[in-house]
Amino acid sequence: MTKISKIAVLTSGGDAPGMNAAIRAVTRTAIYNNLEVIGIREGYRGMIENLYTPHDVSDIIQRGGTILKTARCMEFKTSEGRQIAYNNLKAIGVNGVIVIGGDGTFTGARIFNEEFDIPLIGIPGTIDNDLYGTDYTIGYDTALNTVVEAVDKIRDTASAHNRMFFIEVMGAEAGFIALRSGIATGAEAIIIPEVDDEVEKLNKLLESGRRQKASNIVIVAEGDKEGGAYKLANTIKEHYPNYDIRITVLGHVQRGGSPSAFDRVTASRLGYAAVEALLDDQKSTMVGIQNNEIALVPFRKAVKLHKSVDRNLLEIAEILSI
Ligand code: ATP
Repeated sequence: MTKISKIAVLTSGGDAPGMNAAIRAVTRTAIYNNLEVIGIREGYRGMIENLYTPHDVSDIIQRGGTILKTARCMEFKTSEGRQIAYNNLKAIGVNGVIVIGGDGTFTGARIFNEEFDIPLIGIPGTIDNDLYGTDYTIGYDTALNTVVEAVDKIRDTASAHNRMFFIEVMGAEAGFIALRSGIATGAEAIIIPEVDDEVEKLNKLLESGRRQKASNIVIVAEGDKEGGAYKLANTIKEHYPNYDIRITVLGHVQRGGSPSAFDRVTASRLGYAAVEALLDDQKSTMVGIQNNEIALVPFRKAVKLHKSVDRNLLEIAEILSI
């Protein structure tokens, strides 16, 4: 096994607040261990197109986005593309890479590690929190707080007019943001892909007429089977014309902003752990957090296994919204 002497760090896939804090932690931990460290710009594209950058990590821990930029790179999905990436890394003497991203990023990293001898370690960075093997992904807490702040504002105006708002939040295949933000904002209903009978329950609530003279917040995960907030709101409107219904799609505002303290600390812990993992000869592995301890999870498991929503939280949401 080659002794690790020079590492690279990149961010890939969707950006998430706290990625910069992770880049900083990786860089500083590497320097502390006398490793050379470079930044690769624009995810895997940078590996293929030699987009390297010396990166200054002071004054970035509080910034959203990613100073290394991110990208989706189709060429890395081909064996020719990955071969070029490997040759490029070899040519500049990089013998360890830390990738910050989501399941697509780790799928690419796993394949690369099956083909080549440069170890890759992953740090979970995605606002969706949908990765198996870690209780939290970097960016989730910040996104959640952004949603809560926005929904609280909408609640004020909804209350003033006794309106019902359908608010769509991110979560293409998972309802993690919707469920927690729904609990945190006291939503009357939470519509997520993981639960089947939520619309039925919403119908019952509306039929009862109990909340006609009040504000109503319905949080909808964008990936829900009902087809998102617009579609669902239109169906409800047809059946209950007495309700004054409005729709808000929060969209990309959820991705931006200064990372929360929680995300900064999580990113710092994971960045440190990722370098340690490389030094411990790990490869094809994600560093995660389980029960507040660092956990090493093979990419194979992180991308394949499904992370379920917390059933206990679902029950709490249901009890508290009646
Ligand atoms: P997010 O969860 O925020 O969307 P992600 O990491 O899942 O982040 P993707 O766009 O799915 O984002 O993947 C990022 C990059 O990983 C892709 O652009 C591609 O370069 C690489 N990648 C994804 N899937 C594969 C694959 N099957 N083989 C090789 N590389 C892949």
